[in-house]
Amino acid sequence: MSAMTSDPWDLLVIGAGINGAGVAQAAAAAGYRVLLLEKNAEPARETSSRSSKLIHGGLRYLESFEIPLVYESLRERELLLKLAPRLVQRQTFNIPIYETTRRRQWELYAGLSLYALMSGPWRNRFRRLGRKQAASLPGIEKRGLKAVFQYQDAQTDDAALTRAVLKSARELGAEIRYGARVTGIDLKERGLRLEYETGSGIETVEAACMANAAGPWVHAVNQHMHPPLDMAEPDLVQGAHLVLDEPVEQAWYLEAPQDGRAVFLLPWKNHALLGTTETLYRGDPAQVHCLPQEREYLLQVQHHYFPGRSERVIDEMAGLRVLPRAEGGLFHRSRETVYVTDSGKAPRVVTIVGGKLTVYRKTGETVVRMLSGRLPKRRPVADTACLPLTPD
Ligand SMILES: Cc1cc2nc3c(=O)[nH]c(=O)nc-3n(C[C@H](O)[C@H](O)[C@H](O)COP(=O)(O)OP(=O)(O)OC[C@H]3O[C@@H](n4cnc5c(N)ncnc54)[C@H](O)[C@@H]3O)c2cc1C
Repeated sequence: MSAMTSDPWDLLVIGAGINGAGVAQAAAAAGYRVLLLEKNAEPARETSSRSSKLIHGGLRYLESFEIPLVYESLRERELLLKLAPRLVQRQTFNIPIYETTRRRQWELYAGLSLYALMSGPWRNRFRRLGRKQAASLPGIEKRGLKAVFQYQDAQTDDAALTRAVLKSARELGAEIRYGARVTGIDLKERGLRLEYETGSGIETVEAACMANAAGPWVHAVNQHMHPPLDMAEPDLVQGAHLVLDEPVEQAWYLEAPQDGRAVFLLPWKNHALLGTTETLYRGDPAQVHCLPQEREYLLQVQHHYFPGRSERVIDEMAGLRVLPRAEGGLFHRSRETVYVTDSGKAPRVVTIVGGKLTVYRKTGETVVRMLSGRLPKRRPVADTACLPLTPD
């Protein structure tokens, strides 16, 4: 069965994760007629509910000199704290320093100074707790502890934030269809035709432009396109988190003793969230799950710093980072969003590869700007930088 919608849309968005939500909101705010298609029955069921839930600049990205990304993320963090106070909250982070810590105190001092400077207001300054004060923090291993650095960042509920952005997009006029799996896209002389499966058959829609925000399926969706965009298959890197029964009061930024990676122990809904890992993933993105060795690795990190804490795991999750193919280790691979298009000058299709929860709004605005040469003239109805976000 095939049903044809006669009135073409301005923009089709594939995927109701945070990036698809951000594109739909930005496009609807710019006055465009937007249809978002999501294969699942509800939004944020994939990567956008399995992140570390940080709205942050990413202190560790300073180590790989991703200064523009950190700067932009910190700007977005400050904006989201204002626009979505019920969804994004400031959080105090602690970085313990031991005799064995690989990162030197002066390196952290320099990194945190730069981070504070880029954050803007002085209230974002960090402080150093000496040995005695540091040792009084609840549960922390005192042997060899030299100091704790404290700084401010922000935390969210990633799935709730995604739902709030989608709610905003809907209020601006965007239409969202769930249970709609995109299976074919034909690029035509002008615009495109797209086919998607629903529980009751195949539907066809036409539009001027399209944004592929399918997260770990971004390459699979590209393969459904005729002709596909010229893009290398990105790497999928699995990251696991454990939800631990015992709550934690503040956030901890820990250096894994096994390999020096950053691991977070975070307050999470009256419990604690411990993560993450980086394991190259091959196979069906739908099958990703936390591996026994990831569980062991994370619990070892917690035990190293908090030997008295309960190891009772009440839930676990794994998500997939989408990283453009490149040389070098996964931990230091760039987290910048990459945009692949069908044309350098006036693209009809933009494919989003990678990115961060924190910068979803900027990602949405960028995609709409890139497509504006092919979109019809419309009158903007709102500015996403001023739209409050509330839980649905
Ligand atoms: C372990 C981990 C920790 C992270 N921590 C942070 C953090 O703390 N802070 C931060 O800023 N960022 C973080 N990130 C990055 C951030 O989570 C991701 O960049 C973001 O969630 C990606 O969102 P997305 O919308 O691109 O993908 P997704 O959330 O995966 O959404 C893609 C959607 O597309 C849909 N889809 C796929 N194929 C089709 C199809 N054929 N038809 C219709 N729909 C389709 C899927 O069902 C899915 O809903 C983390 C990532 C990981 C993996």
